[in-house]
Amino acid sequence: MSFSSSSGSEEEDEGTDSYRKGGYHAVQVGDPFAAGRYIAQRKLGWGNFSTVWLAYDTHSSKYVALKIQKSAEQFAEAAVHEIEVLLSIVDGDPSNSKCLVRMIDHFKHSGPNGQHLCMVLEFLGDSLLRLIRFRRYQGLELDKVREICKCVLIALDCLHRELGIIHTDLKPENILLLSTINPAKDPIRSALIPILKRPEGGTLKGRSTTTMVEKRLKRRARRASMGEAEAPKQEKRMDGIDLRCKVVDFGNACWADKPFAEEIQTRQYRAPEVILVSGYSFPADMWSFACTAFELATGDMMFAPQSGKGFSEDEDHLALMMELLGRMPKKIAIGGARSKDYFDRHGDLKRIRRLKLTPLHRHLVDKYNFSESDAREFVGFLCPLLDFAPEKRPTAQQCLQHPWLNLKNSNQREMNVQSKVNIGMDSLKIN
Ligand code: ADP
Ligand code: MG
Repeated sequence: MSFSSSSGSEEEDEGTDSYRKGGYHAVQVGDPFAAGRYIAQRKLGWGNFSTVWLAYDTHSSKYVALKIQKSAEQFAEAAVHEIEVLLSIVDGDPSNSKCLVRMIDHFKHSGPNGQHLCMVLEFLGDSLLRLIRFRRYQGLELDKVREICKCVLIALDCLHRELGIIHTDLKPENILLLSTINPAKDPIRSALIPILKRPEGGTLKGRSTTTMVEKRLKRRARRASMGEAEAPKQEKRMDGIDLRCKVVDFGNACWADKPFAEEIQTRQYRAPEVILVSGYSFPADMWSFACTAFELATGDMMFAPQSGKGFSEDEDHLALMMELLGRMPKKIAIGGARSKDYFDRHGDLKRIRRLKLTPLHRHLVDKYNFSESDAREFVGFLCPLLDFAPEKRPTAQQCLQHPWLNLKNSNQREMNVQSKVNIGMDSLKIN
């Protein structure tokens, strides 16, 4: 089974197919878990392995996130592993100050589709992917990017140095804000009235995963998003949004001394050593971190490879990396177990012969309207993280010392972003 990224972000919901023996557990609002301690409130999200529900913890009188794993053996094994990682995080970060999601409890839940391992996690807010969408893919101001980067680096430093764990799936979806972007629109955070038992008539026929309450919430959300689309196409201000965040989803994490999957990371955030199969460790997370920081600052993924006529997605990915970061040193290019699939013996790509080189600095200035100085400073932070030689990339600890993290924002970028909005370029990229 593949442990590489399970991402639920692109599709609307998890569909009905996997609600069968070995699959998801169907939950309804008001369902009790762990002998009535937790009461399901509404669905928060889903992945290929699990659905995640907001639940009310009747012991602590707090809301929690309940991650309910699919029941088949391979999913249960993966959950056992994830629980081990989450337990070691609890041990390694006793003060809960390292920007890593905290597990509160775990238990088994039996249902018609089998026995499901459940993890009770602290309830967090929107993912950075939602934040990027909220900004209409225009990118965040650099001082906001800095704040987020600090949290993520604190998390990575603790994971890597204290715990010896590689996350292996760092990306905007797997970093959650502590709160919601717009608390007023969040029915749970604004109303805060827990549902303590299943509402009357809650047993719906057919698709038992969507309750009336959920449908109502969805309609409301749809109306709200339609309202947004009709509004003038301006970026939404981010003043007052709490940007503290935590790293989540340890379903694919591994101890550096026992890597278990050859292919790790979600495609766009995948490090070159993973593509070339030359062995990976903590620096693979640092690569994904750099891709995430770029995406926060620009609104675009740093690399979005696609297969084409005569070349694979992998080869396109390597080509995109070299176009932005320069040629890969020959020794690295030909040094991996898969190198021969992509590179000839001179270290040139076999099927993509002509590269359009655009250094990162020019890319930021020309495509994203960065000022020369903003671009120079940001490149100074990012480029070392994107070294093709993993061992040369700075560690999270070293990165935390980088002067860019403590720079004060210049107004230049703000003005540039504004002029981009005025000429209406943002309308090209509304989702
Ligand atoms: P999977 O391993 O199945 O991908 P994740 O841990 O990524 O599961 O969780 C799936 C989704 O559930 C996330 O993308 C997020 O939307 C939501 N989620 C997960 N953990 C929390 C949490 N602690 N608080 C709020 N929402 C969460
Ligand atoms: Mg996930």
